[in-house]
Amino acid sequence: MTPTEPRAASPALQVLSDVFGYGAFRGQQAAIVEHVIDGGDALVLMPTGGGKSLCYQVPAIVRQRQGRGITVVVSPLIALMHDQVGALEEVGVHAAFLNSTLDLAAAQAVEREVIAGRLTMLYVAPERLMTPRLQGMLASLNERGQLGLFAIDEAHCVSQWGHDFREDYLQLSVLHEQFPDVPRIALTATADDHTRADIVERLKLEDARLFISSFDRPNIRYTLVEKDKPRDQLLRFIRDEHEGEAGIVYCGSRKKVEETAAWLVSQDVSALPYHAGLDADVRRRHQDRFLREDGLVMVATIAFGMGIDKPDVRFVAHLDLPKNIEGYYQETGRAGRDGAPADAWMAYGLADVVNQRRMIDESPAAEEFKRVQRGKLDALLALAETHDCRRVRLLSYFGEDSQRCGNCDNCLNPPQVWDATEAARKLLSCIYRFQQHGQQRFGARSFGAGQLIDVLRGKVTDKVTQYGHDTLSTFGIGADLDESQWRAVLRQLVALGLVVAEGEFNTLAMTDEARAVLKGEVTLMLKTPSEVTPGRRGRITR
Ligand code: ADP
Ligand code: ZN
Repeated sequence: MTPTEPRAASPALQVLSDVFGYGAFRGQQAAIVEHVIDGGDALVLMPTGGGKSLCYQVPAIVRQRQGRGITVVVSPLIALMHDQVGALEEVGVHAAFLNSTLDLAAAQAVEREVIAGRLTMLYVAPERLMTPRLQGMLASLNERGQLGLFAIDEAHCVSQWGHDFREDYLQLSVLHEQFPDVPRIALTATADDHTRADIVERLKLEDARLFISSFDRPNIRYTLVEKDKPRDQLLRFIRDEHEGEAGIVYCGSRKKVEETAAWLVSQDVSALPYHAGLDADVRRRHQDRFLREDGLVMVATIAFGMGIDKPDVRFVAHLDLPKNIEGYYQETGRAGRDGAPADAWMAYGLADVVNQRRMIDESPAAEEFKRVQRGKLDALLALAETHDCRRVRLLSYFGEDSQRCGNCDNCLNPPQVWDATEAARKLLSCIYRFQQHGQQRFGARSFGAGQLIDVLRGKVTDKVTQYGHDTLSTFGIGADLDESQWRAVLRQLVALGLVVAEGEFNTLAMTDEARAVLKGEVTLMLKTPSEVTPGRRGRITR
């Protein structure tokens, strides 16, 4: 073939360019699309913003053109269905959705379109799909060879390990049993082994081809700082790095969402609150404003974000520790979907670690489940405490090898590390003395940490003399370190599970694992507390 001769484009490429106006597939899209058009099952693991939608939209159009009928897309996200159907109609693809927002007449109109074969894609909520009415409709389409493809979006909802578990997703294995000849493509941005295995098993995708994309988001800069007046840290971060830009601030509770949003507003930052306790129309209004207006900061619980497709979110900040790395990755992944530089910033501290451990310990879940949750939390804490590249850690959690990234706090500002082994031993022996002394009833807010550190540093306070802690042999043995260094040592020991905070007074206690440190068998290297952010960087012009 000479270069001037036009090459016959594949039907998929033709659809990509004619319908969507794109010149090329990205990453694994081409392979996925070909596989599905040919009738294969697929499980697609692709990060948020990677381009999952085209992986089923292009096959849907091609298969419809080949006379194989409609594609049924299962999605838990009503807002997303709405947006996608609108976008498809705009480019001339006939699509519709069936969910609880439609009244009877509207739903019946959609059903007539489906039966008449006028639709290329039908989006349905999972609970809707399982109704006898819709099952009957699908069966009759199938008999006529007009059921072309099933796409199961947000497939991780079938797994109980994640926080998005949906009972209705469990029923989706029925699709395979009822319609074994209709190909299925399941898609998710959650990639850990547990969830993946769950999806395969519960959706009966044993024979599906697995497509795993890199989870790297190179344009996101990761920064995790130690909490020290977190609101002020956040404000400084926004003012120094993201003045007037759109961002999301995640908080662990509704109350904190409201307080933080109000405070930011009082500091002249345009911020809105979002959590599940707000009225539905307030939520909708805030979400719409965030999507449409420029430079708004959404302060939210994790109720906000799934399926939000706003390309120019310039930062995602966490004021509380997420539950695990999947959560952290998903939430931070909402930044920089347009590919331009974006920040993932988090402030975390001792109380976060203690609270998360406690939430797992005190939950009524089965021991096996708690064990998994603890393992996941440990991985997140290791990410937070590491002095190596954050990205290498993050990606290795998803099974990917990578090199130092040059775009995280630890790469940009290699932290000073110091040998905290001796300090850890002092701290542990001080806890041991406390335990022997038998009187550590500290306020729940301090987690006992304040008193412990005062005693280590040899500070004479009322509380120290009141409990006679100035008579302990460990009084003043840690005068060489400052308070923040001691906090870092303690946080590390809690993160490692060597120290726990127990009971209603958060009494600090050692675990059996602490013995190795006490005996000097383990070396503990800690990061020297660093600046809040790596400082202003030169921005790529957008
Ligand atoms: P995901 O569902 O994986 O989070 P989307 O399907 O919403 O991602 O795609 C993210 C963005 O990337 C969208 O704006 C989409 O139009 C764009 N996109 C996806 N694939 C391509 C491509 N091959 N060429 C250009 N843009 C693409
Ligand atoms: Zn790095």
